[in-house]
Amino acid sequence: MKAVIIPGDGIGPGIVASAVRAIEAVDAGIELVEAEMGAGAFQRTGSYLPEKTIELLKDVPAALLGAITSPISYNPSYRSPLLHLRRTFDLYANIRPIRRLHPSIGLVDLDVIIVRENTEGMYTGVEREEGEGVVTERRVTRRACERLVDRAIDICQEQGRRRITCVHKSNVLRRSDGLFREIFYERTKGTGLEADDLLVDAAAAALVSQPENLDVIVTLNLYGDILSDEAAALTGGLGFAPSANLGDTLGLFEPTHGSAPDIAGMDLANPTAAILSAAMMLRHLNMSDKAKRLERAVMETIAQGFRTRDAGGKLGTMEFTEKYLEVLGTV
Ligand code: ATP
Repeated sequence: MKAVIIPGDGIGPGIVASAVRAIEAVDAGIELVEAEMGAGAFQRTGSYLPEKTIELLKDVPAALLGAITSPISYNPSYRSPLLHLRRTFDLYANIRPIRRLHPSIGLVDLDVIIVRENTEGMYTGVEREEGEGVVTERRVTRRACERLVDRAIDICQEQGRRRITCVHKSNVLRRSDGLFREIFYERTKGTGLEADDLLVDAAAAALVSQPENLDVIVTLNLYGDILSDEAAALTGGLGFAPSANLGDTLGLFEPTHGSAPDIAGMDLANPTAAILSAAMMLRHLNMSDKAKRLERAVMETIAQGFRTRDAGGKLGTMEFTEKYLEVLGTV
């Protein structure tokens, strides 16, 4: 079996190197093929997403990405390579499991999976000048909602999660979010899951005040973006938050954080989100036991008190990785 590895920019290459060592340490038996994407790729090849990378991705069920840096200054011809990938491979569901790994990290005992729509909603990229201002197109379609909710139901069933909550704003966006909510109840009916719904503002509060009531959240693009950053912050920050972008053929796994240019090249990044993203990739490739081992070792490493600086510790990326690999050898 083959998978593509895209180190990317900034802290990406360092944390991906840690994740690759973790994958190799559990003898996953995957041939890992390296590919380019991002600002470094642009400097070397003239493209943020070289055609060769797209071709490689067409051949594999999964890819692990570090992070990429977007240009800071406005460039009308720039097309986000991540959005391009999401569209090319129709990666319609963004999955973000967010769990507090230890009582000494983060603020709230959360253990939720956020399933976020990844192809439409507020992220259509269609904006036009009108009169004195700008109008942004926001799209919610039946097909996108159905497949998203179905994917979220699959995740509940695969992972033994009992409760699913639809997060929306249908008191204001009656037709678009109303459609999403309606489809949510149509699809969850008869699944045996406990299905309920929350307005997005109430969901933002519930993450803090009633975390025990949340299990799997299924939501539209912008709400998912905001709630998952909130949830990550409540459980220890971006260094611990993995994610997956799933389509019907390809799964793209990446830490939720960006390329953190402020600490790039300084051996300071926390590789945990990248390692947990690698675990999600192994689960996607039907290697649940190996995925669980990677996750157990993360919990155990943290429980033994090893921490990078973002989590209040002193270890650099490489030292933390060495400790992690030692622990991995024992679980
Ligand atoms: P980009 O422009 O690529 O999105 P960014 O710096 O705007 O980068 P993030 O990379 O998501 O956004 O990070 C925000 C801050 O969080 C960074 O400045 C960095 O200090 C910190 N950070 C993010 N990821 C990590 C990590 N894995 N380990 C330690 N600190 C991190």
